[in-house]
Amino acid sequence: MAEEKKEKKLWKLADDAMMKEIDSFASDYIYFLDHAKTEREAVKEIVKQAEAEGFRNILDTDGLKSGDKVYYVNHKKSVYLAVIGTDPLTEGFNGVGSHIDCPRLDLKQNPLYEDNDLALLKTHYYGGIKKYQWTTVPLALHGVVALTDGSVVDINIGEDDSDPVFMVTDLLPHLAAKQNAKKLAEGVTGEALNLIVGSMPLEGEESESVKKNVLKILEEKYGIKEEDFTSAEIEAVPAGKARFLGIDRGMVTGYGHDDRVCSYPALRSIFSVKNPKRSAICLLADKEEIGSVGNTGMESHNFELFIMMLLEKTGIESPYALQKTFSASNVLSADVTAAFDPNYPEVMEKNNAAFVGRGISFNKYTGSRGKSGASDANAEFVGHVRRVFEEAGVSYQASELGKVDEGGGGTIAYILADRGMNVLDCGVPILSMHAPYEAASKYDIFMAFRGYSAFLEKAEKQL
Ligand code: MN
Ligand code: MN
Repeated sequence: MAEEKKEKKLWKLADDAMMKEIDSFASDYIYFLDHAKTEREAVKEIVKQAEAEGFRNILDTDGLKSGDKVYYVNHKKSVYLAVIGTDPLTEGFNGVGSHIDCPRLDLKQNPLYEDNDLALLKTHYYGGIKKYQWTTVPLALHGVVALTDGSVVDINIGEDDSDPVFMVTDLLPHLAAKQNAKKLAEGVTGEALNLIVGSMPLEGEESESVKKNVLKILEEKYGIKEEDFTSAEIEAVPAGKARFLGIDRGMVTGYGHDDRVCSYPALRSIFSVKNPKRSAICLLADKEEIGSVGNTGMESHNFELFIMMLLEKTGIESPYALQKTFSASNVLSADVTAAFDPNYPEVMEKNNAAFVGRGISFNKYTGSRGKSGASDANAEFVGHVRRVFEEAGVSYQASELGKVDEGGGGTIAYILADRGMNVLDCGVPILSMHAPYEAASKYDIFMAFRGYSAFLEKAEKQL
């Protein structure tokens, strides 16, 4: 593996048949990126695909037996899937855990205003973004507006070729001398991330006529009034489709690789599991980008509820069955890591960086400074995952997010580890993480699928 890593031979391991699989998987992934830009859309698309694969809503089942496939939707923004094994669940499950929320601009609850003949929408950014990247990019609005009569209006504007889009403006270079002299992080402020939503006045109106025109269109097309934004969740995300990147089509660029580039392979890997010995679980959480909090984040005890339902429906009754299950379980925390970027070599330590096209990457630990906040996987468990991957022909590398003391980051790994599971961070290296468009190698995306599939089928109990 080390020699291969040095000589970049890995693509050569792909014969014609495997190249076809890699391309076909990348195309399926691009479809998913285009149809699941928000956590709510991801849940809908995942449930649709899961039902087509024979998964049933666990709430519609009585007893469960080995081979059964079920899912549970947690408040429309996270989803857990399971294939029941032949071993009792208390012997532990094999899981892959990922997240389906992405950095973006959320509309504030009182977003709409008019300023000097333009109507704008105020936003509050979600997740760790570099604010300047979100200016002058065509944006689409996705989300829901919950009305007081109990109905919910779906919003999706900006994806169809005939739809309008939205945009945050930036200062022209001619007048940007002072902006250019500022620190990069201060050149564009959070309160300047306002979207242009209208510019035409409503006829016959004297004051705020542009805003009134926007409200008229919103009422006619969507039946929503200004005060309804109070109970809305509307996300501004880059408009348009994901594409192959490079003349060789070796990479995929699009919005939301972090973490669809791991959550989609995780989903497909649980579809590939047939009659496993240990139960297989795929968990797709919300709110990772803001600390995994809330009732749809990984901290939510609704994941425990799902496991308790599996225990009950497979006939296991024991006061400590839940903890016994967790303590015997193995999970891959499937999240992206930083790929080495030739434009910014100074933040990476090359012996411990992940490289594009060299397979899925292990981060034994995450965190920052002195491994603060890290979930540090046990060496024995990492050794076990290596064996599973090597037997399945999965290319992998081992990396850290960057140089020591350069920065850092976290995933859902520590939350799963807190519950007693063996956890290893293991995901796809990407370029331009958290930017409106991120990039990943289709080889690495396929290796994630292959690795997660092998792990769900073959990982054994670890003590
Ligand atoms: Mn992530
Ligand atoms: Mn992230």
